[in-house]
This record gives sequence, C-alpha cells and structure tokens, in this order.
Amino acid sequence: MILSIDCDLITVDKLAPMADQTIETDMLRLDKIHPQISGNKWFKLKYYVDLALAQKKSGILTLGGAWSNHIHAVAAAAAQLNLHSIGIIRGERPASLSNTLLDAEALGMQLLFISREQYRHRESLFNEMAERFPDHLIVDEGGAGPVGVRGAADILNYVPHPHQYTHILAAVGTGTMLAGLCSAASSHQLILGISSLKGEDRISDTIKPWLPEEKWSQFRIMNQFHFGGYARHQPELIGFMNRFYEQNNIPTDMVYTGKLCYAWNQLCESGYFPSGSKLLLIHSGGLQGNRSLSKGKLVFQ
Ligand SMILES: *Cc1c(COP(=O)(O)O)cnc(C)c1O
Repeated sequence: MILSIDCDLITVDKLAPMADQTIETDMLRLDKIHPQISGNKWFKLKYYVDLALAQKKSGILTLGGAWSNHIHAVAAAAAQLNLHSIGIIRGERPASLSNTLLDAEALGMQLLFISREQYRHRESLFNEMAERFPDHLIVDEGGAGPVGVRGAADILNYVPHPHQYTHILAAVGTGTMLAGLCSAASSHQLILGISSLKGEDRISDTIKPWLPEEKWSQFRIMNQFHFGGYARHQPELIGFMNRFYEQNNIPTDMVYTGKLCYAWNQLCESGYFPSGSKLLLIHSGGLQGNRSLSKGKLVFQ
C-alpha cells in the first residue's frame, strides 16, 4: 500500500454492556489510525490513490461540504503522496473558513467554491472538471463508488476473528463503507447501517448495484436515528455522546459515530438483538468535524 498509516494503532475495544448482559459488543477503532486521514476515509481512498498513481495523474479532484471528513482526508492523503488536490466545495466562499477547510488549504488543497445548484448536477460538473483539469483523477463525494467499496471491504481484515460476530453496525453516509463491509462479511452476519442523513430512504437502491445479488438480503438500513431536522434532539445526542465517553472512554463524532452508538444503545434497550448476540461496531472516525461545535459541549474536546 502506497498510502501509509500505522495499522498497529487499530484496536478492538470492549463496550460496557447494555440491558441484556448476554450481548457483547466490540468496537473497531478506525478513528485512531491517523489524525487526518481518519477512519473509513483511508480505506475508501486507498485504491483511488493507487489508481491516480497508476494513471500518472498529478492530482486528485473531489468534492464536499465545509466540514467534510472526506475533503480533509483527501487533502492529507494527497499531501503525503506529493499529489496536488482540488476540493470543490458546496456554497459560496464564507468570510472565514471552517477548521476543516483551513486544514485542507494548509495541506495544499486548492479550494473551488460552487453554487449548490451546480453542485447538485453532478454529471455536468464532472464533465466540466474533467475538461478543465484533465491531469486530475476525479473522486466522487465521500469516495463513493465501487473503488471505495473495494477499499472498505478490507476493513474487516483488521479485526481478529471477524466471523465470531452476529451483527456488524456502521454509520451510513453514501453507503460505500456499508457495501464494503457487507461484501466482506460471511453469510451468517447481518450488517446494520445507521443512516446519518435525513431523507436517505433510497440508500438501499444505491448500495445494491455495488454488491452481488446474494448479498442484498444481508444488510438493513435504519433511518430513524439521523436526528436531522429536529434541532431539539441535538442536545440529546450530545448528552449521549458525553455519557458514552464517560462509560467507555471513547470519543465519537456528532455526524456519524455518535448516532451509530446512540442507535446501538436504543436497539439494545428495546431488545432488538437476540440473547447471546455478539456485535461489532465500526468506529469510522470523523472526530475532526466536532470542531464545528462550540467549545465545552463535549467533555472530551
Ligand atoms: C464518511 C463517513 C461515514 C460514511 O461513510 P459512507 O461510506 O459514505 O457511508 C461514516 N462515518 C464517518 C466518521 C465518516 O467520516
């Protein structure tokens, strides 16, 4: 692998048991692999990077929002490999940049701000960018797509005895990581995706083409834990993240892994998992995004 991280930092931690004491939960700590190329983003990116180098591209062009973990990771990965990077950012350039974009610029990423309208029309945007920057590999938002899925399929290689688990739980944005996990899982395992985004009911249809048909019944997407649009629920999530940290000494992020752990807690308490289940939660990183919160809200920040 050309893109380097310290794999020895990855651990599997035990979580404090919830309601049913016969249910055990382990968490794969991908948040610890690299301070910038955090969590699942390294996995999703690594074959894109190989592709860029194989095609002798001079850089990578990708897109995201102001607090995007993906933008952050691409900027860091490109810097590590002496590749140029361009980040297409949704919306107008603000008077002061987010910490994420400040980091990206400091790492050498060129930022281009485009309107939300242009951002939505992905195909014409990519065509335009391919013409303007022919020496850059274009990577879709979040590293989505089959190349990202292939990278995410390697995640379970970092878990000792991965087949002992009955359920694997992970946060879902584009669904790329979930598809990778699903493709690598053995047939007795159920893969639960906790959707972070509101209105992503069609995520299953996005994932299916990335998987062989016999895998389609092996995953479930849960849409009831995104907290989106219900601002009054946000303090509940932050409160949970603080309690989770106090119990397990594990920080989570408010966009993905906080909701994942909240969902895990709810599902355990409601008796969703049969007695004797063995659960694996994927901590997919993303802690840098917590900097969008005002200081003092999270006990671990
Ligand atoms: C990007 C991201 C996800 C979502 O991954 P997808 O492959 O897009 O579903 C989950 N967790 C964290 C921390 C992320 O940064």
